[in-house]
Amino acid sequence: MNNRTLLVALGGNAILQPKQEATFENQLANVTASCRILAKLIRMGYRLIITHGNGPQVGNILRQNEEARQVVPQMPLDVCSAESQGLIGYMIQQAMRNELELLGIDKSVVSIVTRVEVSSDDEAFRNPTKPIGAFYSEEEAQAFMQEKGWIMKEDANRGWRRVVPSPLPLHIIEADVIAKLLNEDQIVIACGGGGIPVVRKPDGTYRGIEAVIDKDHSACKLAQEIGADVLLILTDVDNVYIHYGRPGQRALTRVTPPELERFRREGHFSEGSMQPKIDAASRFADSGGTSIICSLHEADLALEGERGTLIMKAADHA
Ligand code: ADP
Ligand code: MG
Repeated sequence: MNNRTLLVALGGNAILQPKQEATFENQLANVTASCRILAKLIRMGYRLIITHGNGPQVGNILRQNEEARQVVPQMPLDVCSAESQGLIGYMIQQAMRNELELLGIDKSVVSIVTRVEVSSDDEAFRNPTKPIGAFYSEEEAQAFMQEKGWIMKEDANRGWRRVVPSPLPLHIIEADVIAKLLNEDQIVIACGGGGIPVVRKPDGTYRGIEAVIDKDHSACKLAQEIGADVLLILTDVDNVYIHYGRPGQRALTRVTPPELERFRREGHFSEGSMQPKIDAASRFADSGGTSIICSLHEADLALEGERGTLIMKAADHA
């Protein structure tokens, strides 16, 4: 038993594959396959905390709200994010408990509706960039902008779409209770979809805010706040590459944050996909932890140093 605490960030493909229809059955089948992989890590002795993306799921919840708005009052984005944490958390709880049952492992799995504090001064609020929800005609978009104050932008000729800010996480509000559950040897699912963004008011109370936090950034923050040993970012590529998809493509196996910073400046990582993982992994490594970016299917081998991209501070590299 190694008893190390491992925070796993599941990418979108762990729940829904590209081009698959988002039925419950499809999603549960993917989640079950993902949990079979995660159960191996539990058997290796790791204490596990699981975070996950929610893009397609929260997109569909928003769409349901938008389509049915004449019949049922529309819920704000923070509430839709909370709903998606429940939806995905339930699937992971069910699938993970079933996998553990088959292995004869007697640990409970619990998901926490997680709020994440962001700053209302975050520059993201001045420049919303994250597209969410359904596509609309220009006329509908104008009406939403007037009625609801939404910011809507035309999206590559596919129609008009709402954009929201993507601020950085300051603090995981439920981190204390998550740490307690981990100490009691429970498997915890938290910070789904990057967490529900909230801002702190001068009187110390919080309110939800219409924004979306990148799940890779929240995963790093949560890993730091609970004192995890390893941040394992599981995605659909087996390594971080330089010259990705171009001649001279090369997989990075062991790399330091300063080396990654140099590659970032050379333009090797795409903004909306690999760059947030690189930022999260580098920040976690700078704070003394070990970060790994790898394929979901090679998680166990990557933890043994045989696959994936390992990110550590230079001093630990020898
Ligand atoms: P996730 O749901 O796991 O967050 P993303 O699509 O956001 O998945 O990020 C993973 C994607 O990042 C890969 O499928 C790959 O196409 C893309 N990517 C961009 N740049 C790189 C790079 N330099 N090395 C590897 N993958 C990269
Ligand atoms: Mg992503």
